Amino acid sequence: MQNNAKSNDNNSSKRSLLTPVQLILHTLSYFYKEAFHYQPIYFLIIVASILLNALHPFINILLPKLIIDELLGDRDLKRLITIIAIIAFSNMICNMLKDIIRETLGKYDDNFDRYFKIRISRKTMQMDFEHTEDPEALEQASRAETGMEWYSGGIAGLTFCFVNIISSILTLTGVIVVLATGSPILLGVILITVLIRTLINAKNNTINVKHFKGLVALNRAFGYIFWQLSDFRFGKEIRLYGSADMMLKKADAHNEETTNKWKAQSMEQLPFGEADVFISVINDGFTYLYLGYLAIRRLISIGDFNMLTASASTFANSLQSIIWNIQEIHKKSTFMQEYIEFMNYGNALYKGTKKIEKADSYIFEFIHVSFRYPRSKEYVLRNVNLRISGDEHLSVVGLNGAGKTTFIKLLCRLYDVTEGEIRLNGTNIKEYDYDEYMKLFAVVFQDYKLFAFSIKENINLMDDNKDKVITDKEVLELCELCGLKEKINSLDKGIDTILYKQFDESGIEPSGGEAQKIAIARALYKDAPVVILDEPTAALDPIAEYEIYNHFDRLVGGKIAVYISHRLSSCKFCDRIAVFSKDTITEYGTHDELLKIPNGVYAEMFAAQAQYYV
Ligand code: ADP
Repeated sequence: MQNNAKSNDNNSSKRSLLTPVQLILHTLSYFYKEAFHYQPIYFLIIVASILLNALHPFINILLPKLIIDELLGDRDLKRLITIIAIIAFSNMICNMLKDIIRETLGKYDDNFDRYFKIRISRKTMQMDFEHTEDPEALEQASRAETGMEWYSGGIAGLTFCFVNIISSILTLTGVIVVLATGSPILLGVILITVLIRTLINAKNNTINVKHFKGLVALNRAFGYIFWQLSDFRFGKEIRLYGSADMMLKKADAHNEETTNKWKAQSMEQLPFGEADVFISVINDGFTYLYLGYLAIRRLISIGDFNMLTASASTFANSLQSIIWNIQEIHKKSTFMQEYIEFMNYGNALYKGTKKIEKADSYIFEFIHVSFRYPRSKEYVLRNVNLRISGDEHLSVVGLNGAGKTTFIKLLCRLYDVTEGEIRLNGTNIKEYDYDEYMKLFAVVFQDYKLFAFSIKENINLMDDNKDKVITDKEVLELCELCGLKEKINSLDKGIDTILYKQFDESGIEPSGGEAQKIAIARALYKDAPVVILDEPTAALDPIAEYEIYNHFDRLVGGKIAVYISHRLSSCKFCDRIAVFSKDTITEYGTHDELLKIPNGVYAEMFAAQAQYYV
């Protein structure tokens, strides 16, 4: 049962071991396999695009020579018009086809863009929970997104380069034949200048890659601030704490830092850009001087002059295009590898295969469990021993930061224990099929989230649960049990009312208490054998809290229930209370037993709260 998280650390070093060619081939095969799987017809359009791009230049290389030869030779008007008409018509057809292909490819590219974004979202939702709290995994997710967007252009960027490379190779082959027979010296000079421009471009790409990582981190930070600024849910905090200026200042600072980084990158690249322009001017100058000299000396015809200058420029362009696009594809591959790495991001948890036998009662045991969060040296829990079984209702109590939520995360296997083990019916929970194990729990966390969907959809998040299609009647019953009946009745669309305003102008903003009740209804609907409420009633008033616990206790009577509450009101409904303090369980027993412990934490907390409630 090894921890696969380590394999992620090795990803980057594995990538740097790939040669540029391997990197390109790996990226092309990965993405085109995905693309073929998603839209096979895309490849037909790519082939058409390659052929068209490769053949089109020859219309303007070979045919104008016929015009010039006609003008300087027989000067037959009919033949001249025919040649011009053929050139114009062929160009028109080629350009029209190119437009159609560009449009069609554009549509497919948009689809691919969405496809890969959805893949990233899916991966983010399916990856082990602990990665969602791990900065390195979050950074990788962010790099995957940015790597697929503005730096690489996604599959559209890849296809652009790929089509250009193949079509340029085809064009180049034809042009080499024309040049090698017409002017081998010119061929040599062009080769040298292309080589120099390639080196310049390589340097430019290195600078791009160097700056990419720094910009990703900045972008993520800026995105976070920007999101908070534009998300109305932060509106209250921003107004009441007067934090708009602070947010804007932070946004400005990030903006400035990003601009400075872009500036630094441009300044570094500027000399290379200038050098590239200079070399290309030299190349063009030589071509015209040399071929002009040959024409004046009548060593070539004017038609040949025209054909060779066009060939020279096409040769340089095609070779340049091949090399530039290979370098581009290499650069894009580097960025797009971030996506591949994210998609291959290993699981942190060992996923067992053992089926969970349906049992009348489940027994969970914590045996000498200690835990520290990944990348943290501090133990949050030490030597925790506990047994929960049958239909026991356990209350978990302790001061802030005592490790109560962490205890729940371990029980639900969102994290694996660092030492010791947790057993379910005598078997280490790691050995069970992970998805099946997850089905045992219905949890409402402190930081539960509702979605900008309807109330009904928020209660039934298990869309793929074919055995169980929730009816409106069931939803209404659950809402009634959770004290939402009046609220639902007051809404025109009832349970179909949309929460928040992202998708629907008429969406409602539930109060803290209402939101918690919806989250609790969701947990009840899951109908799992273990129900956990992690400080779920913090936003409820004492009467609503009492009602919820009362209903809850009735509803989850035959199940294991774990309540974490600061108010200790949940304790009254529970068979046992576990007090977390000093990284472990320091007191365990019934309400009456714990009250009798001299100087006990529970007795102290209870006395402190009684002052306010009695
Ligand atoms: P409680 O629920 O009792 O308030 P928690 O279990 O949330 O306490 O937290 C216990 C300790 O673990 C705290 O010191 C908290 O800062 C730390 N902690 C919680 N989550 C993480 C995390 N993802 N990474 C590192 N430390 C964490």
